[in-house]
Amino acid sequence: MSTSEIATEVRAKLDTVRTALAKEITGKTGVPRDRSSSVGWKGDVCLTCSFQAEDVLLTKLAIALDPKIPVLFLDTGYHFAETYAYRDRIASQWNLNLINLLPDKTVAEQEAEFGLLYKTEPNRCCGFRKVEPLFKAVAGYRVWITGLRREQAKTRAALEESAMFTLPAGKQVLKLAPLASWTTRDVWYACEELGIPLLPLYERGYSSIGCEPCTSLPTDPNDPRSGRWAGAEGVVKIECGIHIQAAPASH
Ligand code: SF4
Repeated sequence: MSTSEIATEVRAKLDTVRTALAKEITGKTGVPRDRSSSVGWKGDVCLTCSFQAEDVLLTKLAIALDPKIPVLFLDTGYHFAETYAYRDRIASQWNLNLINLLPDKTVAEQEAEFGLLYKTEPNRCCGFRKVEPLFKAVAGYRVWITGLRREQAKTRAALEESAMFTLPAGKQVLKLAPLASWTTRDVWYACEELGIPLLPLYERGYSSIGCEPCTSLPTDPNDPRSGRWAGAEGVVKIECGIHIQAAPASH
């Protein structure tokens, strides 16, 4: 495929995503919404952002529709210093309504009580530091926008662009994945087209970036998430749990 064909394809995909986001963020469906209703109007939509490329791209598109859309970041305390610096830079430059979601315990408190859970019980660690804070926060919204893509992992191969998601307490939210069909090439091309600077860790060879103790360089060039949780002892793990309709972690 030529560069101009890629450009045409990605621009068309961007238009589709903008339309999907506008429908939920501004209510511009072509049919006027009932403004007296407390649901289905501006203010009840949130976006989760890990500050990886696809999330930052979606953030850029979303703030063009609502500059104050809540941007939820899972501040586990275990991120790379580069991720925190990049988050702060983008949040400042784009004037984001950034909401840092914190776990109940600090890293020091958790390690004093349980040791290095990311090595021994990573599912429990993710439960405490990601799943619980996120599900608690998302419960306050009607729509949850994510940068998930089918190509990212086999666990995401059947991802739908729009589906109801049931939280542990029973509440349902509309979960959107407007980039579901996008390839890594599409994301990188769109970021370049829109002048979006990327997390510098990509330049060091990382293809999927989460908490520092659980992120290594990919071991399989065909699997971008093959560097995630590679150091967990005796545990095969490819998802942190926030995209699985799971029960909250046990204390
Ligand atoms: Fe803990 Fe690793 Fe999960 Fe981060 S990714 S919450 S460090 S287990």
